[in-house]
Amino acid sequence: MARKIFSGTKTEEEPPDSDCRTLSFAHRIPAMAARTRAAFYLGPVVHELSMLPKLGATRIAALKASGVHSVEDLVRRAPLRWIDRTKLKRIGDLREGDDAVVRAQVVSGNLVPGRRPRLVVRVEDGTGSLELVFFHYAQSWARKLSRGTNWIVSGRVGFFRGPQIVHPELEEVDPGAPWTGEILPVYPVSERMHEARIEQRLLRNLVSAALGLGSLRLPERFPESLRNELGWLPELENLRRLHRPKSMDEVRDARRQLCMGEILPVAIRMARRRELMERRGRALTGGRETLERLRKTLPFSLTGGQENALSEILSSLEAKRQSHTLLQGDVGSGKTAVAFLACGAAAGAGVQCAFMAPTELLVWQHFRKLEPKFREAGIRAELLCGSTPGSKRTEILRGLASGEIRILFGTHALLSADVAFADLGFCVIDEQHRFGVGQRAALLAKGKDPDLLALSATPIPRSLTMTLYGDLRAVVVSEKPQGRKPIRTRVVPEEKRAGLLEWLDGEFAKGNRAYWVVPRIDDDETSELRSLEALEREIRRARPSWKIAVANGRMPEEEKKRSLDGFAAGEFSLLLATTVIEVGVDVPEAGVMVIEGADRFGLAQLHQLRGRVGRGTRDSWCFLLLGESGRAAVDRLNGFASTEDGFAIAELDLEQRGAGNLEGLAQSGATKFVWIDFARDRDLVEQTVSYASAKLRNWDALPEDQREAFAKWFSEDLLEARGNQ
Ligand code: ADP
Ligand code: MG
Repeated sequence: MARKIFSGTKTEEEPPDSDCRTLSFAHRIPAMAARTRAAFYLGPVVHELSMLPKLGATRIAALKASGVHSVEDLVRRAPLRWIDRTKLKRIGDLREGDDAVVRAQVVSGNLVPGRRPRLVVRVEDGTGSLELVFFHYAQSWARKLSRGTNWIVSGRVGFFRGPQIVHPELEEVDPGAPWTGEILPVYPVSERMHEARIEQRLLRNLVSAALGLGSLRLPERFPESLRNELGWLPELENLRRLHRPKSMDEVRDARRQLCMGEILPVAIRMARRRELMERRGRALTGGRETLERLRKTLPFSLTGGQENALSEILSSLEAKRQSHTLLQGDVGSGKTAVAFLACGAAAGAGVQCAFMAPTELLVWQHFRKLEPKFREAGIRAELLCGSTPGSKRTEILRGLASGEIRILFGTHALLSADVAFADLGFCVIDEQHRFGVGQRAALLAKGKDPDLLALSATPIPRSLTMTLYGDLRAVVVSEKPQGRKPIRTRVVPEEKRAGLLEWLDGEFAKGNRAYWVVPRIDDDETSELRSLEALEREIRRARPSWKIAVANGRMPEEEKKRSLDGFAAGEFSLLLATTVIEVGVDVPEAGVMVIEGADRFGLAQLHQLRGRVGRGTRDSWCFLLLGESGRAAVDRLNGFASTEDGFAIAELDLEQRGAGNLEGLAQSGATKFVWIDFARDRDLVEQTVSYASAKLRNWDALPEDQREAFAKWFSEDLLEARGNQ
């Protein structure tokens, strides 16, 4: 028997829009503000928030906490989405398969128990009755969807003894709203705003009042001739169209202009960089013989993908221009070998090389593997890190200045001012997304227009590459070495933990090795450490015979290296670690990755972690452990488990979390974009980039005001100084 749940009246304490994020997703045009937390600050506060009605100190404080400091900021804060009431249908007219929007009143609601318990709500609009079915729902929905409330309901119509929508999108119709237009904006409401009782209705009111201020002006950032050429409206007018649209076409058009306006300056600047690099730099030739000697030291032959990438890099080294290349390739595709040979070619051509990686552990691992090979070929390579002893450091600096040291590996330590090369001509940056743009520039500045090879294991969606790395030429390593078997990925619920330990007993007996990684729970490193220590105690208690090594970020470098070294050599079968081993670590003999609290990681990060295994020819496994709190993430993780394609995962991550939150990209300035949605606006990005290139090609024919504006963009700190200008 179904249980009646509705009291029949709506509780007043429950503000109507408190759950709007989970309840309603009508017309979600790429959500800018959702993830951008704040309007961007562009100028001094001209109109104080206190000028608007119904704003007291508490509410103002809540708005400011969300980055809204002035009336101007409020107006620049975009709606999350819109509810289009212009296309309402009557329930009586619904047909199976329709994508429908109806306006209806709740008449009953029931919790139906059974194998798949569900919430069933019946609504009517006078022409018929429609059933809304929820298999997933929050308890509070039952209360919100109480009898007599009115909703705009949308979704795909099915038929089962009458029309039905499973998991419809819902928006409560708010009869008292001042904005009576047919397209309603819905704004992001932060927790803090919610507590201050700033809800949709109030926000609509506030924006109305703001737009009504006769003195409101926004500074125009684009030259007039450009606006005319593109048919752009003033920014304020575009914002008005977002807040008070007459049609969804208006919304789309306004958004398009704002997006393009946001990336155009970056695109112009990148186009300028490419142009300058054409004119700078030198040809690094004569290194192929050295390269061939080094190639013989590799225990494998390159894959076709590696060969192609290498030959592209070689021809750009040899060309008489500065070349900056972004070498993209999925985790484990063998980018290191390509970079190694490219260094050989550059060293053979007579210049010095720098090889920089983000962690000491990683660069040490590279150095340990590659230095003997360079030595065999008569090339001196050294390693410089924070932990390098003073005397060794002095010796290295001397060798570097004299030109004796041809290749210098290192961490950020390479960037310190007293590290001076005789003639730095080629820089490799491994895991480039871990470095800030300023750091990249600082390394390049140590040479005279050196070539750059940036390695990226976090596959970056193309739209972002074109914008943020628009001055780098992308080269992709398209395949993995032969013989790699798929990594089998499984989501493991808490109750199967014991089973996992038993399974590992068997694997270790067969000589397999495993990583076990813990997440960071709060923002600080301490939580990571705490969970690592707890896990270590637990496992040692359960399995006293296991040979366990531990690695975390707080350990002295020497100890970390000893753990990794011992693990690589097979002295230990289990390496318990924090995310210090996330990138780059390469122990091909390890075939198992266990990730504790997997729901706490972004997909890109999981992909990186999983990429530590599947590097040899053995069977590989990745286990995603979920704590109680992680159940909600099962779908997301199953999605991850079903693919090993890093680019697909990066796109998925981009869609789920937005560019600003993508691993490492925050450093590249991705967070500075408010309007553009890199997951959905690919075409727009491409168009803008080619528009920018065309502009620069026709420089002489450009109107004066455009030339002036562009020249300003060349030097403006749009995304922090990047590259060597
Ligand atoms: P990534 O691209 O993630 O940096 P690595 O350069 O660390 O990958 O390479 C991953 C593993 O594959 C390493 O153990 C490396 O020695 C091995 N490897 C690289 N190229 C080849 C190849 N052509 N054939 C076989 N193994 C290779
Ligand atoms: Mg690597």
